Amino acid sequence: MPKTALVTGGNRGIGLAIVQGLAAKGYRVLLGSRDLNAGEKAAAQITGDVKAVQLDLSENTVLRTQVKAMLADSEDIDVLVNNAAILLQGNLLEVPETDFYDSVQTNFLAVFELTRLLVPDMVTRNYGRVVNVSSGWGSFGEGLSGPAAYSITKAALNAITKSISQSLPDTVKVNSLCPGWVRTRMGGASADRSPEEGAETAIWLATLPENGPTGGFFRDKQSIEW
Ligand code: NAP
Repeated sequence: MPKTALVTGGNRGIGLAIVQGLAAKGYRVLLGSRDLNAGEKAAAQITGDVKAVQLDLSENTVLRTQVKAMLADSEDIDVLVNNAAILLQGNLLEVPETDFYDSVQTNFLAVFELTRLLVPDMVTRNYGRVVNVSSGWGSFGEGLSGPAAYSITKAALNAITKSISQSLPDTVKVNSLCPGWVRTRMGGASADRSPEEGAETAIWLATLPENGPTGGFFRDKQSIEW
């Protein structure tokens, strides 16, 4: 029986490359997209077992209803890739309050919600992989040097990874990663990596073997500082 993976923000950028990579490995992939049309268009381009599902991370009550609908006609979810995020500019004193709150919702609270909705079943079934697509800008060790709302929410995402990994059995692995600087709408055209290169570490963490790591933060499949 193929494993089922859910990738948020799977309609473009790194998320789409993660969907492609997992489908190529024989996973059944649920391509999460807040715009179902965009998700279905993206899914139609991919060879493999890929189905678009509507998941909008902007509001947890909406997200909960959408997850319920997804679970009603899908397999169990074995792999959760929390990829969707927004990058809004400004230091802490400049960033508009709504931008900060939107970043907290999309980059952090929606992950909290999805984790609590989907991980308990992974524990019951004794198998799970949770991959949190973070950023070097969310690393204290690397200086939290990005725009404030982004860096702070990515640091909080890393904290979810570390905290939850300590309370789960080793059969359910939770890790964070930085994909590097990637040519997407977020990364811009000058970035040095393709979306496929940016997806490699996420795909590795999504498909970890039984003896793979948990509670870590990685770039290029190597451990990096929190
Ligand atoms: P991107 O090209 O901007 O794509 C972001 C994806 O997230 C899109 O699918 C977007 O959907 C989705 N999204 C945003 N807000 C959403 C919401 N409220 N609900 C549902 N989906 C939402 O970004 P990317 O470069 O592929 O980034 C993917 C991940 O890598 C992010 O977590 C990002 O922080 C991380 N990252 C990227 C870089 C880089 O250089 N690109 C570097 C470090 C980390 P729509 O199409 O509907 O907007």
